[in-house]
Amino acid sequence: MSPQLDAIVVGAGPAGAMAAHRLGAAGAQVRVLEAAELPRTKPCGGGILGLSRLPLPVDIVDLVDAQVGRCLRLYDHQRPVWQPVGDLTFVDRAAFDLQLIDSACSRYPSVVLETGARVREVDVQETGVRVRTECGRAFRSKFLVAADGVYSRTARCLGLNRRPLVAAAMDVEMEVTPEAWQRESAQATFNHFCIADGYAWIFPKRPGRLSCGIGSWRRRHRVPAAMGEFLARSFRPGEILQQTKLGYPIPLYRDQRPIATARVCLAGDAASLVEPVMGEGIRFALISGDLAGRAVADCLAGHATDCLPYQKAVQDRFANSFFDLSRFILPVLLQAPETFYRKFIEGGANYHRLAAALGSRLD
Ligand SMILES: Cc1cc2nc3c(=O)[nH]c(=O)nc-3n(C[C@H](O)[C@H](O)[C@H](O)COP(=O)(O)OP(=O)(O)OC[C@H]3O[C@@H](n4cnc5c(N)ncnc54)[C@H](O)[C@@H]3O)c2cc1C
Repeated sequence: MSPQLDAIVVGAGPAGAMAAHRLGAAGAQVRVLEAAELPRTKPCGGGILGLSRLPLPVDIVDLVDAQVGRCLRLYDHQRPVWQPVGDLTFVDRAAFDLQLIDSACSRYPSVVLETGARVREVDVQETGVRVRTECGRAFRSKFLVAADGVYSRTARCLGLNRRPLVAAAMDVEMEVTPEAWQRESAQATFNHFCIADGYAWIFPKRPGRLSCGIGSWRRRHRVPAAMGEFLARSFRPGEILQQTKLGYPIPLYRDQRPIATARVCLAGDAASLVEPVMGEGIRFALISGDLAGRAVADCLAGHATDCLPYQKAVQDRFANSFFDLSRFILPVLLQAPETFYRKFIEGGANYHRLAAALGSRLD
């Protein structure tokens, strides 16, 4: 058993890495327990909206694969609509995640990363938290940040975020011909409802490479078959030179369930902090990881007695609007897809504003 640490962070994805940065900056003794060896593969489009406006603790200029200022929206391969998107950046998740966690450990010696350390048991007592890994190592800490992704073992051990709403998704990393790269690299393409209850995307990556994906908000949809059809309709024969397909679920925010207890904060996918209409999660993993780190740092500094203020911080920052989207917009998307596309994509009505108005959360 280790001497008592200030905090344990479970998972070294974007949420865990941001929590580690925030805790390291506060001088906390932190152990980050990561199941995988790094860099690890995370099936993901790697698209981050408004990255330049996020207070990232590292310079990621070298990690940017591509950037676009516009997107092409389609309704089942037809009815094209071009839209400006501000700043949409694409990263390679393995490299991006590694850089974030590596920089936390090199900048703050009190932050120690252990890879190959899959957490199996978590037990919260009045005096602190006990964690045991699959290979039998035990750790104790005052607080814990659970950032172990969609299948969060930590959340399960603590009875939090039970039966999350999960979308089926698949990512395909591809090498394509110069012609296909030329055609697809100037924009991000969102092909709505080319799969029932979902959409497919084509994102530019490094020259010659694209990331394609598909997600269905209905869990039982046959995603691999739909992916094959999407690729066959989007690319000419011979344009795809090489491809790697990986399926993985996306947890969608549904309700305002507890994501904090006195000593624990759930962050990122472990707390289902994913925008429920488009399935965007990286930005919110980064923000929630940072907020979780702050909540724990406040407790360690004696500014707060428990981690419960984290719940409100996340709700105020973005989860209340996710709740409104899940109540008012997701049902339209699922039950009346054509209306969703006509009103919000072709008609330009802002569904975030409508959801906020219906939830009475307009500024
Ligand atoms: C196909 C697909 C495409 C996507 N595309 C996009 C996109 O383009 N843009 C976007 O914003 N979002 C996208 N997302 C969502 C995004 O990938 C997630 O929301 C984001 O990765 C969440 O980050 P996280 O840090 O919470 O979790 P993760 O990135 O999943 O990190 C969790 C970490 O915890 C570790 N771990 C798991 N269990 C344990 C354990 N028991 N003990 C220790 N460590 C553990 C894992 O190895 C992992 O490193 C996509 C998701 C999918 C599935």
